[in-house]
Amino acid sequence: MKIGVLALQGDFSEHIVMLRRIGIESSEVRLPAHLEGLNGLIMPGGESTTIGKLAVAFGLIEPLREFGKSRAIWGTCAGAIFLSKDAKRDQPLLSLMDITVERNAFGAQVDSFEADLEIDALKEATGSNNPYHAVFIRAPIIESVRGAARVLSALPDGRIVAAQENKLLATSFHPELTNDSRFHEYFLAMCR
Ligand code: GLN
Repeated sequence: MKIGVLALQGDFSEHIVMLRRIGIESSEVRLPAHLEGLNGLIMPGGESTTIGKLAVAFGLIEPLREFGKSRAIWGTCAGAIFLSKDAKRDQPLLSLMDITVERNAFGAQVDSFEADLEIDALKEATGSNNPYHAVFIRAPIIESVRGAARVLSALPDGRIVAAQENKLLATSFHPELTNDSRFHEYFLAMCR
């Protein structure tokens, strides 16, 4: 099992550290050739416009779309925006996952927050019933899910913060910034 981490911009190294901690080999993806031999790909948080523009510059858009047809991709925060079909703005997107996202939906950087989430899919997959402590940094919300996409988690007010469509996973928050590896383990099960 080898997982790639898109390393154009953002907090890719934190994902690599988390994967190493749970004994999973990973490698940084910056060019199309780096996708070879991977079982799945994580796209980190950061700035989605920057990630998109760099993906265009490095010729990664079509190779990533091709990758996502057969293998698992997880986008966290900016990565989730990049994975979506609609971010309601003019910016490069992979347009793989049938979700609409709203960028910076909770306000500015100073409005970043943490929240405990009840995520049934995570409980079932990991056998642990503890709430999931999620870190939101100038996060998007998943405004709507369509087609085969389904909601994995929402805030108490109903705003969607995690969704899955077959082998595609999107989270508004940053599981790589806590010590809880359950979301990474959930994604690894999707890659197998
Ligand atoms: N605000 C960023 C964007 O819209 C996402 C922030 C993050 O990834 N933590 O692209």
